[in-house]
Amino acid sequence: MKKRTFGWTREPVAIVGQGTWQMERDDRSAAIKALRRGLDLGMTHIDTAELYGSGAVEEIVREAIEGRRDEVFLVSKVVPDNASYEGTLEACERSLARLGTDRLDLYLLHWPGTHPLEDTIRAFEELVRAGKIRYFGVSNFDKGELQRAVQIAGPERIACNQVLYHLAERTIEHRVIPACEKLAIPVVGYSPFGSGSFPGPQSAIGKALGEIAKQQGATPRQLAIAYLVHKPLLFTIPKASSVKHVEENAPAAELELSTETMKAIEEALPRGRDRDGVPTI
Ligand code: NAP
Repeated sequence: MKKRTFGWTREPVAIVGQGTWQMERDDRSAAIKALRRGLDLGMTHIDTAELYGSGAVEEIVREAIEGRRDEVFLVSKVVPDNASYEGTLEACERSLARLGTDRLDLYLLHWPGTHPLEDTIRAFEELVRAGKIRYFGVSNFDKGELQRAVQIAGPERIACNQVLYHLAERTIEHRVIPACEKLAIPVVGYSPFGSGSFPGPQSAIGKALGEIAKQQGATPRQLAIAYLVHKPLLFTIPKASSVKHVEENAPAAELELSTETMKAIEEALPRGRDRDGVPTI
């Protein structure tokens, strides 16, 4: 699995990682097996959150990474309701306990909330000083919110913006990606398969993607992943609870798309108009 520099942090991070949302609904041992197979294949960026299954998913991740913590770039998130200064410190402790680790590689504010961002960032900085998190970042922040976060935190403190990005939802290409590029902030695209709404082979879009993929010797989902990481600051975190799915997703990081292929994908699934804010799931 290819790694690339995670923006200004200079950390090498797997381009294609592993999401975990709603994993508590899946067969537990299959999900753990899938995550561990993903690690074998180099999908070492694991994304979770205190929100997922009200903590149950962090416990699944704990089992999956047991004995392999040092391989993993481990990411979790605090929900906005908990993101006061004290609340963030406490939420982090709970996540660390559920994950069975003494540190997170990256800790995110899940989306903008009502607690002052200054307080959340002050807590993040305290957690960095205490060695409980290595980096912190944000999620679901639009361009203006991101710029404000950088103003509060200072340059080279916000380590990523995790946002919705899939072939049928390319709004972030208008403003969010360019803003992140200016600041050398990585964009981690979530729900790369539209969270279960990936176009099937019977639909017109599915057929078009199938044709393009065939020419590349790839599957439509591999093509989608390769598109979603087509720029140096882009990362993606597909969720899969089966080994078969993980084994399909991992090699997509190696797929090089020609200019013609990029154009064909963009024609099949146009970017759409610019909109205020960021799209969310
Ligand atoms: P997704 O990754 O777009 O899609 C997941 C779905 O695709 C699952 O049903 C999965 O099935 C299926 N799938 C995966 N690989 C497949 C393959 N090769 N062939 C067929 N089906 C395949 O959805 P997501 O979970 O919404 O997004 C990914 C991650 O992003 C989340 O898990 C979470 O970590 C993160 N996220 C963050 C936010 C945020 O607000 N920051 C919001 C949403 C998501 P199986 O599970 O059965 O394998």
